[in-house]
Amino acid sequence: MDFEHIKNLDDAYGAEVFSRFPVAFVGGRGATLTDTEGKEYIDFGSGIAVNVFGACDEAWKNAVKEQLDKIQHVSNYYYCEPQAKLSELLCARTGARRVFFANSGAEANECALKAARKYSFEKYGAGRAKIVSLNGSFHGRTLFTVTATGQEVFHKYFDPFVPEVVSADANIEAIRRAAGDTACAVIIECVQGESGVKTLDKNFIKSLETFCKERDVLLICDEVQSGNGRTGTLYSYEQFGISPDIVTTAKGLGGGLPIGACLFFRKTEHTLKAGDHGSTFGGNPVCCAGAVNVIERLDENFLLEVRAKGDYMRTKLRAIDGVKAVTGLGLMIGLEVNGNSKDIAKKCLEKGLLVLTAHERVRIVPPLNITKREMDEGLTIFREVLRHETST
Ligand SMILES: *Cc1c(COP(=O)(O)O)cnc(C)c1O
Repeated sequence: MDFEHIKNLDDAYGAEVFSRFPVAFVGGRGATLTDTEGKEYIDFGSGIAVNVFGACDEAWKNAVKEQLDKIQHVSNYYYCEPQAKLSELLCARTGARRVFFANSGAEANECALKAARKYSFEKYGAGRAKIVSLNGSFHGRTLFTVTATGQEVFHKYFDPFVPEVVSADANIEAIRRAAGDTACAVIIECVQGESGVKTLDKNFIKSLETFCKERDVLLICDEVQSGNGRTGTLYSYEQFGISPDIVTTAKGLGGGLPIGACLFFRKTEHTLKAGDHGSTFGGNPVCCAGAVNVIERLDENFLLEVRAKGDYMRTKLRAIDGVKAVTGLGLMIGLEVNGNSKDIAKKCLEKGLLVLTAHERVRIVPPLNITKREMDEGLTIFREVLRHETST
């Protein structure tokens, strides 16, 4: 199908929730993608921090194909080897005790929030169900997770929301006030992705951990975007010296297949029991086989390279005229720029570079195995676009 045909079908029949760029990708290798016209692009977005090994990674593909040749789905009424292996792997790497698998980030968070309420209900009875999130956060599109998303733009039209969910500024006094005596959990992203790749202050995170431990309020780290090697450690909370009670992740976990995970640590390992929660597709063997390949390969050496690439990109980006600030951690990069971030993303696309935006910032989250050549090619295009932007 040529591009116009695809576009016409989608415009006519697709739900109108996405404002798409005028391009359809048909293939790629690593951080280089190809569209319907054969034009190539350097990929600084990896499908929103999803394709951690880029397009068509051989080892990942083989792991997935091998499972596909065996069986594509089994019900969670039965045991499943890739799922069991992935649970063990995630626990071994993080110190978590148990894992629930979902299909997306929102569902992983939904599970975490439900578990937090049950934990508190069992221990303290009713009336201690409040969830505190941060202003500027993003936790998903289900009603519970969108309620917990601390950005008004996502709240239009959808009330009434889930009760007892509040957002507060990222300072400990505001958290204390918002929590009162009835909070069961606080949910944070150590690096807020959707609101502009903003890294939370380390002292705030440490004091939040202390606050939570003192009150037996669960600390939930949403690592949906910042997880799976993205920031240079397997999960970003590791860089803040904290021990969360629940960690959620998704996006990069499957290397491009839909899978989310909710990791339960010591306090919450026995909270959810048979019948409390579930999922038809959650822990699908093909997705889990992909995720096992991802997690096994994100070893210390690989993560060291991610940090080095992050440093390299940041140094180069800081030197570009029109870049006012570089934020985030590792290969999760936010850019404060001269000019409108959406316009910049559009111009980059025209010149063969994919970047994302997050509000007023440009967001760069390339495949973690991006090569130096691909980084340099992308940076050259970005430099040209910003030069033009700054001179007009
Ligand atoms: C993307 C994202 C989500 C939602 O994930 P979906 O897979 O789109 O449901 C939740 N939290 C964070 C931090 C995210 O970046």
